[in-house]
Amino acid sequence: MPLFSKTTLSLATLALLTSMTVQAATEVNVYSARKAALIKPLLDKFEQSTGITVNLITGKADALLQRIKIEGKASPADIFITVDAGRLQRAKEAGILQPINSSILKQNIPAHLRDADNLWFGLSQRARTIFYAKAKVKPAQLSSYEDLANNQWRGKICLRSSNNIYNQSLVASMIENIGAEQTLIWAKGLITNLAKPPAGGDTDQLKAVAAGVCEITLANTYYFGRLMNSENKADQQVVAKVGLYWPNQQDRGVHMNISGAGVTKYARHRENAIKLIEFMTSAESQAWYAAVNSEFPVLKNAKVSTALQSWGTYIADPIALNILGENNRAAVELMDKAGWK
Ligand code: FE
Repeated sequence: MPLFSKTTLSLATLALLTSMTVQAATEVNVYSARKAALIKPLLDKFEQSTGITVNLITGKADALLQRIKIEGKASPADIFITVDAGRLQRAKEAGILQPINSSILKQNIPAHLRDADNLWFGLSQRARTIFYAKAKVKPAQLSSYEDLANNQWRGKICLRSSNNIYNQSLVASMIENIGAEQTLIWAKGLITNLAKPPAGGDTDQLKAVAAGVCEITLANTYYFGRLMNSENKADQQVVAKVGLYWPNQQDRGVHMNISGAGVTKYARHRENAIKLIEFMTSAESQAWYAAVNSEFPVLKNAKVSTALQSWGTYIADPIALNILGENNRAAVELMDKAGWK
């Protein structure tokens, strides 16, 4: 005599399946290359307003991408979040994302800040702009990225290394805008103008300018925003000594990049995943990004913090960000050729 009759067993199975379905309907799993502090409060708000539980796993971008790939159909991931269009394109090419047709996302995110095939969507913007030592450089001496290769800046520039995707994406945009040949000549000139070999992160470059190691650098705007929001005295001194300059305002505009997200190919909570990405483009979420991480919203007319407002208005390069990823390999090779360590 079996322990359970057929009927009770199937009822038990049914109950279990039902509870699994209920659970599945009320959660979404996020793999994020952004630190928890930069995203968790937003996910909590989503949880509160929808009742959908958000499970968050954070890690390094390339490792998470690899993990989703290896996990394949068994991957618990529903959403992949990372920074830089170059990396989002990497995720697209790795085949870990699926296309999403959402009128809300199309309405909230300008076309050039999302994938042409609807595989990834920009959630926040950052400019990679010029920063200068106020004591040594007058803004009138500055003009464009191209100008940084000129003789007058010999021994005066600090740069982050070429293995960082931010500079790769800037170079990728230059290839598109001025051609590979001109970009190579430019990169060679830029490297000739270095004060020291490339090293450190964006904040280190800003600190080097403040310390007088060099007069000019390139960094993402939110790093400067973080220093502005810091109560640390040393950070405040960096802010006092360093100026922000918008390059290429007479032509294509400053180079912009994004943080973004995509729904994974085998997402089991597809609808919730779409809901969450849509939520992240809402006016409230967009204002949060600007306030907490000094990033620019992708949503038009979203509120920006006073720190961001203090940088003034700017013209942004309207390049479709797909191109940054598509040109990534060419950019890396070009930087290598130019001697950009
Ligand atoms: Fe960063």
